[in-house]
Amino acid sequence: MYQTTLKTRISCSGVGLHAGEKAAMTLKPATAGTGIVFERTDLNNGGRFFPARFDMVSDTFLCTTLRNASGATLSTVEHVMAALAGCGVDNALIAVNGPELPIMDGSSEAFVFLIECAGVVALDTPRRHLRVLRAVEVRDGDRVARIAPSESRSFRCEIVFDNPRISRQSASLDLDREAFKSAIARARTFGLMEEVDGLRARGLALGGSLDNAVVVSGETVLNEGGLRYENEFARHKVLDAVGDLALAGAPILGAFEGYCSGHALNNRLLKALFEDGDAWRWETAADDGERLAALA
Ligand SMILES: [Zn+2]
Repeated sequence: MYQTTLKTRISCSGVGLHAGEKAAMTLKPATAGTGIVFERTDLNNGGRFFPARFDMVSDTFLCTTLRNASGATLSTVEHVMAALAGCGVDNALIAVNGPELPIMDGSSEAFVFLIECAGVVALDTPRRHLRVLRAVEVRDGDRVARIAPSESRSFRCEIVFDNPRISRQSASLDLDREAFKSAIARARTFGLMEEVDGLRARGLALGGSLDNAVVVSGETVLNEGGLRYENEFARHKVLDAVGDLALAGAPILGAFEGYCSGHALNNRLLKALFEDGDAWRWETAADDGERLAALA
């Protein structure tokens, strides 16, 4: 019913996936209506803030990067965004001392742990959500991302990989805090061994290791301990979609479906949704009460 924020500030540190540099991050409470805003503490006043919105996304290769009006960038926001959305946090300021957020173990588990340690409190302003009124779909060849009207916030992702261990798999989520935490938050990002050398040659994934990504070579999962779920790969795609769609700036009441979708297509889906003024509307908890009263 009401917007939320964190009860107190809380910090962690880790390496950034792409540059491989150490990053320190602090999650802080924020007032109602702030939304999620990132702050790069290594930059000067004007250019240090990055509202977490779909229209600030500048790059979606491997991760979601935000670019602000002064041209500064901040990368790998999606797993923190997923944790905040999964835990129902509407407003927070996320301070980080460099151009990348820490990757932690490649999932959202550490961020969920931090949010739960800090605690989540309700503010006195009603929450608004974005209700999908008709289906919107974007495609890139065979890849599809789609959002359709629904009374719940559901996600379904299917992936098909030319790899015998990943192959074809799917995962679903009806988004609430417990379901996100138990079924999705621990699913790690992943890659194929044969891609790793190419990424390193391009100066990417320099901080990547078996500590923060599942790496697959043929039939074999190279990580000691193997997978956390048999369909961990598809579950991570759901995690990414939760984070990418949180860039709408409010919870979306709708059913998301992705077929081989990723950050780029998820971002195009949000742009297509917002461009079609008949496909959605803002609603608040108060509107819901009136609607239910009208139906009764
Ligand atoms: Zn991811």
